[in-house]
Amino acid sequence: MKANCWYGKQDMRVVDVPDPNILNKKDAIVKVSSAAICGSELHLYNGFVPTMEQGDVMGHEFMGEIVEVGPEVKQRRVGDRVVVAFPISCGQCFFCKKELYSLCENTNPNAWMAEKFFGHSPAGIYGYSHLTGGFAGGQAEYVRVPFADVGTIKIENGFSDEQVLFLSDIFPTGYMAAEQCNIQPGDTVAIWGCGPVGQFAIRSAFLLGAERVIAIDRFPARLQMARNGGADTIDYEETDVYDTLMQLTGGRGPDSCMDAVGLEAHMPGLLYYYDRIKQAMMSESDRPIALRQAIMACRNGGTVSIPGVYGALIDKMPMGAVMNKALTIKTGQTHCQRYLKPLLDRIAHGDIDPSFVVTHRMRLAEAPQGFDMFNRKQDGCIKIVMTP
Ligand SMILES: [Zn+2]
Ligand SMILES: [Zn+2]
Repeated sequence: MKANCWYGKQDMRVVDVPDPNILNKKDAIVKVSSAAICGSELHLYNGFVPTMEQGDVMGHEFMGEIVEVGPEVKQRRVGDRVVVAFPISCGQCFFCKKELYSLCENTNPNAWMAEKFFGHSPAGIYGYSHLTGGFAGGQAEYVRVPFADVGTIKIENGFSDEQVLFLSDIFPTGYMAAEQCNIQPGDTVAIWGCGPVGQFAIRSAFLLGAERVIAIDRFPARLQMARNGGADTIDYEETDVYDTLMQLTGGRGPDSCMDAVGLEAHMPGLLYYYDRIKQAMMSESDRPIALRQAIMACRNGGTVSIPGVYGALIDKMPMGAVMNKALTIKTGQTHCQRYLKPLLDRIAHGDIDPSFVVTHRMRLAEAPQGFDMFNRKQDGCIKIVMTP
């Protein structure tokens, strides 16, 4: 089959790889109908995530039709149309029973590697380095889905792929990030980053009762999409973000601040170059520019929610601000399985149509060009959906 594979920094190739097989009785094989490129994959593309190997199959946002099931798959059968959650979770362990699916302790065969970096291992993730299991991803014609009963949701109501595909990651990710803000009536939520997750975070914040959302980015198409979702916007290359947020909130700061940017942040100013240099010298792995600003701008007693991906170490973390302002910090890989059903219900009720985020459609064979375009934010690119 064809699959989009990682071959090195900014080197993706669509090549022939062996078809996947059932390896475990709880596996299913899914014939992919649509797969998206995720912003978090740019960190792999740009070589910021260790333990990638040549030939690794990319992709953790995909859906399709089940074409084969293992003997212990009980809830799904051949022919089911499903969306697959990006973390791989057993449904039975200490963490899965608490619905902390992205922390499943049974699905990362390379847990020892992750423990070296993090102290403990998170769950396995499709197509996201060997640190999270080395699982082949869904930017392919077929994919093996372990624990298919737990990690899939069946789609029955005739939705288009683009309406439900983002249940795989970015809709739940934006939603969980907004939920972590514990939004109260009258609240203002500030969101750094108007990429796909930021866009869903904006709409989720309103779904959860925010009075105002202020979205921060520099790309006109992204800011426009944020305004389409009801947000006020700040272009950080034109105005000082902290000062503008204070003006907009009576000097107190937003009730919650969200970093939907993660480790490859940009920002004018000296600190950005400080981070670039430290990152290049490998003495800091991540550039936490948006995070620092979110912490500094957040009102006293507020919440900083971090859906943005971080890999390892950051520098100049304003911990004094966190402590003295009594901030709550919430983060985590998304417990995607927890949100599949409630958010599919939201879509069915017409609260949101996730297909708004799609700006580009292409064939799987064009995946390398898609990554390049998305990485450079060319042509107003916000979300690419590929079909085999
Ligand atoms: Zn993703
Ligand atoms: Zn588990």
